[in-house]
Amino acid sequence: MLSQLALSIKESPTLKLNETAALLRDKGEPVIHLGGGEPKSRTPIDAIISCSSLLNTGEIRYTPSDGIPPLKQAIIRYTEEHYDRGVKPENVIVSSGAKQTLMVALHAILDPKDEVIFPVPYWVSYPEMVKLAGGVPVPIAASDGSFCPSFEDLAAAVGSYTKAIILNSPNNPSGAMYSNDLVARMVELCERRNIWLLMDDTYNRLVFDGRAPTNCYEFTQEDVDRSQLLVVNCVSKMYAMTGFRIGWGVGNRELIRAMANIQSQQTSGPSAPSQWAAVGALNGVQNSIEALRSTLENNRNVLVARLQAIPGVKVVKPAGTFYTFPDFSAYNPDSKKLAEYLLETVRVAVVPGKDFGMEGHLRVSFCGAQKDIREGMERIQWALDPDAPNELYLGSRKLVRDAV
Ligand code: PMP
Ligand code: GLU
Repeated sequence: MLSQLALSIKESPTLKLNETAALLRDKGEPVIHLGGGEPKSRTPIDAIISCSSLLNTGEIRYTPSDGIPPLKQAIIRYTEEHYDRGVKPENVIVSSGAKQTLMVALHAILDPKDEVIFPVPYWVSYPEMVKLAGGVPVPIAASDGSFCPSFEDLAAAVGSYTKAIILNSPNNPSGAMYSNDLVARMVELCERRNIWLLMDDTYNRLVFDGRAPTNCYEFTQEDVDRSQLLVVNCVSKMYAMTGFRIGWGVGNRELIRAMANIQSQQTSGPSAPSQWAAVGALNGVQNSIEALRSTLENNRNVLVARLQAIPGVKVVKPAGTFYTFPDFSAYNPDSKKLAEYLLETVRVAVVPGKDFGMEGHLRVSFCGAQKDIREGMERIQWALDPDAPNELYLGSRKLVRDAV
């Protein structure tokens, strides 16, 4: 007999889709994966060298469960450079991915029935993580139907059970960035009301059109050790190092200590080779981030132009990340059915908007090759166009279309 908790938790739909796409590919199906959540660039060479140096010693041991000192130092330097904040090793925890940082943070702060507010659309894992930690997820949609709830929308949801707010900007899945004004007011509200503010900055270096990453520390003079802010980041996206599973949190030392205690009982700490890889990435040559960012900006332009060319599809140009979140409800208001139809009919994988709390939308990624974006969009356009011929040839393969 399984626990009520286990029975209430959904599998990560984004990770599941990766598996489905890989299985179909193994069977020889010509799948184009526009549902992915990881850049395709290679691991920076400095990360590989640093990781290999440890591997070459043949002595791969346990590390301090909250992270090795050189990695904490690299994160402290990163925080000084990109957030203009001096912090101490006691303010830093290294985890197995940003996902674990968020998870141990929620375990450290939530009592049963405590509420966690986050804007809609949201990353698929937030509701499940909050539930895993015994809390109640409170997704808040913008009253104007946009991707960015206003301060008033969010503040109206704050009540006596509110323990934390999660902000992810730029946002997975919409690519939208919250305004500095919104972030500043949320920081002020959280500091005043003693609510934890988890800033999920996973994508904050991947922003376009000359925008600067948001720095939440700009909006508070509070000492880090009295602050309600936890800034979460990782090597996963900006260095394209998803497989290493290294993320971190920077915040109040009391919170960090509680998170570290929990983590020490959960995993004993992140993998040692991965931590050394992250040291290499953070201390090494940094040009891979700009190379990735500008490739993504080009990909975004290609994808948005293709989406705009499909009649009835509404798309907002993403300010960052590698996701678009167009509204396809003119074709089918049921996003799961539409995503299934596209995978079955034209072998293009996308993620249903429902999983991100916004029905009628699909998450279409632009982290892959431009060639795949172009071909994937051509196939989608064919699958949706009622006037297109009923057959499409992919090389020697013939696709036949059912009704949408
Ligand atoms: N936050 C957001 C918004 C994400 O999209 C992801 C996906 N990877 C994560 C956190 C987790 O990152 P990691 O792979 O480092 O666990
Ligand atoms: N965060 C990425 C995504 O949303 C990777 C998969 C996951 O961790 O959910 O696709």
